[in-house]
Amino acid sequence: MAQTTKADAAQKATVRPEWAAHKRIVVKLGSALLACPQSGGLKTDWLGTLLDDLAAMTNDGREIVLVSSGAISLGRRTLKLAPGPLELEESQAAAAVGQISLAHAYSELAQKRGLTTAQILLTLSDTEQRRRYLNARDTLLTLLRLGALPVVNENDTVATSEIRYGDNDRLSARVASMIDADCLVLLSDVDGLYTAPPGSSPNARRLGVVTEIDTAIEAMAGDAGSELSRGGMKTKIAAAKIARAAGCDMIIASGKRDHPLRAIAQGAPCTWFIAPSDPVTARQRWISGQLESKGDVTIDAGAETALVSGRSLLPAGVRSVSGNFDRGDAVIIRSLDGRELGRGLIAYAIKDAERIVGKRSSEISDILGFAGRDELIHRDDMALHRLHNAGK
Ligand code: GLU
Repeated sequence: MAQTTKADAAQKATVRPEWAAHKRIVVKLGSALLACPQSGGLKTDWLGTLLDDLAAMTNDGREIVLVSSGAISLGRRTLKLAPGPLELEESQAAAAVGQISLAHAYSELAQKRGLTTAQILLTLSDTEQRRRYLNARDTLLTLLRLGALPVVNENDTVATSEIRYGDNDRLSARVASMIDADCLVLLSDVDGLYTAPPGSSPNARRLGVVTEIDTAIEAMAGDAGSELSRGGMKTKIAAAKIARAAGCDMIIASGKRDHPLRAIAQGAPCTWFIAPSDPVTARQRWISGQLESKGDVTIDAGAETALVSGRSLLPAGVRSVSGNFDRGDAVIIRSLDGRELGRGLIAYAIKDAERIVGKRSSEISDILGFAGRDELIHRDDMALHRLHNAGK
């Protein structure tokens, strides 16, 4: 058994209890933290301090998955590509070059600290298709069981614009949901979510804890136009939704310091997004967290009450459908005033769904000319968001 020194005991005593409770943690770092602003090369000294933290956490019995960006930015520097936006093929080529350096750097730095790294490159379909999702999950869990440190990135070399996550905030949330992590840490160049852009608003205040992602929180993340100036907050809020739906807490904290994880443990400023404690099934988590929605189903108040009490969605309670979905696709279920109530796998393609909206289930076969399911979305295929959202 490892000896506990006085220093260890003192260190443990200063750890925030909510951090100490987390056992399986996904840590995401963005390209801006990894690259040296002058040379564009990797900030290996800083990365070394992060790996020190990861090694300490692993020795403490925690399981860590690292999600690292940086492949494209490193590769474009090696290939001497001109500044400015890259063509898709250029970013795919840059990722192919940069990912090697990235993996090499992690492997070397980790080895020095007694850790074994494993590279996992994921594409959107690895989380969208349930069989591939289960496969990727098994690999990650096996690596954790064997004591390795998985380092995940998007497989940018094969991901085209239509089939990519595009940002590692959401990718890391999907990974966290996939492996049932307790906590997702987004290391960023800002130390949390602010009530207004911290650079330009003197009254901007950092939120310490967020327990509900409502319209006010969404508004703080800004719209697409202000995304850059707020450190990509929009995708971080999207990540928080995915993580919370999976029962996983999320932290936005600054990575612009040495030992960024130790700093969080010791109380550095950050924003905690606390996950609700109601248990969610693995299937519900997959439906709500891993699938891109292909359309919207707007339901009436009666159907909303029925759903909240655990019943399936029948066509009779639906006011309208929109989008371009096929049978089995994921759709967003909305209230009449546009609130997102949850997500589900729809039993009819849009063409058929449009024709049975508002109709009784007994009429379906006459209208469509074939006997389909009575339910538009069966309750087993549905993941509702927090029920206390209903009625707000
Ligand atoms: N996957 C991209 C890369 O490694 C980064 C995406 C992001 O920065 O969120 O370059």
